[in-house]
Amino acid sequence: MDKPILFLDVDGVLNVFSRDMKQREVLLQEPGGHSHHLYPTKFTKPFMRWAWSTFDVQWCTAWRLDGNLIAKWAGLPDRPDATICRSGKMMDWKLEGVQNFLAGRTPVCVWIEDGIGQEAESWTEKQPTSCTSTRIRNMGFAGSMCSS
Ligand SMILES: [Mg+2]
Repeated sequence: MDKPILFLDVDGVLNVFSRDMKQREVLLQEPGGHSHHLYPTKFTKPFMRWAWSTFDVQWCTAWRLDGNLIAKWAGLPDRPDATICRSGKMMDWKLEGVQNFLAGRTPVCVWIEDGIGQEAESWTEKQPTSCTSTRIRNMGFAGSMCSS
């Protein structure tokens, strides 16, 4: 059986900007390329290891394939980018990429996103096979769901 698909955002989910969480900054450097600043929590790597073993992870982020710099930092294999299409309103620009990725298929999938738009959220609610958006506001997955 295929693993369920996880559309995974980075900023606000794996990359948490809250100052009171005292997370350390990690500089991720592309060979010969630009750099990214990552603010992980202590839960980021354990969450990613679980996600990689449980789901067919697809990046769904403005980081695009640079999300794989985070995967490398976590010691995990590269994953593809599901957001090749960039269209729609500010908060819905990932929706077309997700729709194209799923075209003709009805897999079980989860979308973890801190900034999902109304159109995208409405679309996920109408999907027949558990395409669930998980809206996370301002705290990130690791911080908000694993800190207790
Ligand atoms: Mg985000």
